[in-house]
Amino acid sequence: MNLTDEQKKELHDIAKRIVAAGKGILAADESTGTMGKRLANIGVENTEENRRHYRQLLFTSSKDMNQFIGGVILFEETLYQKADDGTPFIKILRDLGIVAGIKVDKGLAPIYGAETGETTTQGLDGMSARCEQYKKDGCDFAKFRCVLKISASMPSEVAIQENAYVLAKYASICQHNGLVPIVEPEILTDGNHDIHACARATERVLGAVYKALNDHNVYLEGTLLKPNMVLPGQDCPTRSSPQEVAELTVRTLRRTVPAAVPGITFLSGGQSEQEATLNLNAMNRLDVLRPWAVTFSYGRALQASALAAWKGDAKLVKSGQDAFLVRAKANSQACRGEYQAVEGEGGAAGKSLFVANHQY
Ligand code: 13P
Repeated sequence: MNLTDEQKKELHDIAKRIVAAGKGILAADESTGTMGKRLANIGVENTEENRRHYRQLLFTSSKDMNQFIGGVILFEETLYQKADDGTPFIKILRDLGIVAGIKVDKGLAPIYGAETGETTTQGLDGMSARCEQYKKDGCDFAKFRCVLKISASMPSEVAIQENAYVLAKYASICQHNGLVPIVEPEILTDGNHDIHACARATERVLGAVYKALNDHNVYLEGTLLKPNMVLPGQDCPTRSSPQEVAELTVRTLRRTVPAAVPGITFLSGGQSEQEATLNLNAMNRLDVLRPWAVTFSYGRALQASALAAWKGDAKLVKSGQDAFLVRAKANSQACRGEYQAVEGEGGAAGKSLFVANHQY
């Protein structure tokens, strides 16, 4: 079944709007459990109302946030929530010209035939009907996260092929329902491997992902890639400079990601807010052809300072919003290679956001 020219044009236009110059994505699609952990860190109870208050803080932070944020990924609960004045969140975002997206995966499950700990991602069953409904309800893109790991025997070939295959199936289902799929094969930073091991694993994984997308006739111009940066493992004693991260990450992407893909939207993956910004900035300063937009789709690295400043206190909403805008603006500058690190930039900016075996 082929997409019509009209469907293709719509998908391509959506993808380009999300990654327009200086813009990236706010990943605010934490599942209820993950949001609970974030709220617990600041001593706030994980109730639907507290989650609503927090997402309201982000989405109403400034009328100008659309200069930095092209898309926001929502969790299903948030898609149907409203601000205090009764305006649906999705209307607030769309009125700002921000593209709304939705997390459509349903978490991880073991691949029993692979190495212990390797997983596939659930959620393909019934996905087409859900996507059709989300499109009617105002969403124009989707996210589906697959997870891979590095060790002497991982990622195994079975895990690579299985995750590439489910990402390709997901991507074609989304496109047939008018949603731009964000294809996310995240390789976790857990481990003591060096940056070169991460480069090799990322190259194998992305090579397989684009082979599978091609086999499934996915329209690449109407997709976005959400990869990990190429980084040393969390416990690797040798740390890398932003320059080295940028060179190896962009080299890996240039070897594997077709020029037809409109944008690379990185996850932050446990980097501190400032590391995630500096690494992105270094990539956009490299003197090498990058045929795609190179931007962000950060969760933790856009929200840590905001959560810390808010603390669940209604009187501190503005402080939380200001902290979020500092990160959004810094990452927007990094998309253009124009970011200058600022001394004392927000309390939490330099703090590691690593979470072992991260679940979303
Ligand atoms: P982090 O930026 O916190 O890694 O999360 C981004 C995301 O959406 C993972 O799916």
